Amino acid sequence: MEMLRRMILEKGRIIGDDILKTDSFLNHQIDPVLMDAIGQAFYHRFCDHGITKILTVEASGIAVAGATARLFGVPYIFAKKQNACNLDNEIYTSEIYSFTKKTTCTIRVAKEYLQSQDRVLVLDDFLANGQALLGLIEICKKAGATVLGCGIVIEKAFQGGAKKVEEKGIEVFSLVRIGRFENAKPVFL
Ligand code: 5GP
Repeated sequence: MEMLRRMILEKGRIIGDDILKTDSFLNHQIDPVLMDAIGQAFYHRFCDHGITKILTVEASGIAVAGATARLFGVPYIFAKKQNACNLDNEIYTSEIYSFTKKTTCTIRVAKEYLQSQDRVLVLDDFLANGQALLGLIEICKKAGATVLGCGIVIEKAFQGGAKKVEEKGIEVFSLVRIGRFENAKPVFL
């Protein structure tokens, strides 16, 4: 993912000790050419896994999941952070703690969209401490669905999230892995 590395180096900004701001191409304004390339990379890695659903969490995962799902020809689901309905017994939920915001939020997926026969690829834009992925995996478990792997656009490897997911026997495939920040620049692994 040379294009992704170049954009991170040219347009990314480091905030504090551990946040990489990528709002100009990934999280707020979105580069469609990059997004197509991201979808292709995930498709190439997981196309022989018999994926039936792609699962992510709002908001930044949605563009990644959409670009990828189009190539797989399967639906994509984004877990909601807001309780938009009162069908509490018709949804799967999981609690996610955000180390950056220091808050816990509930994510929700309607039961009708995730079923026990589903073979799921879980996608997200960033992997840090692994809470978002673990929450999405827990929702799949509640549904009885099988998680075939996780795809991440930018892994901050120094925050240890991949290990927590791999301990569950689930592969984490990251398009770029950042080992540390040095002189206000990310250093790729
Ligand atoms: P985790 O749950 O793995 O600790 O954090 C992953 C989630 O937090 C992602 O869904 C992403 O939205 C957000 N996140 C974590 N670190 C960063 C970062 O450095 N930059 C951005 N833009 N988002 C991040």
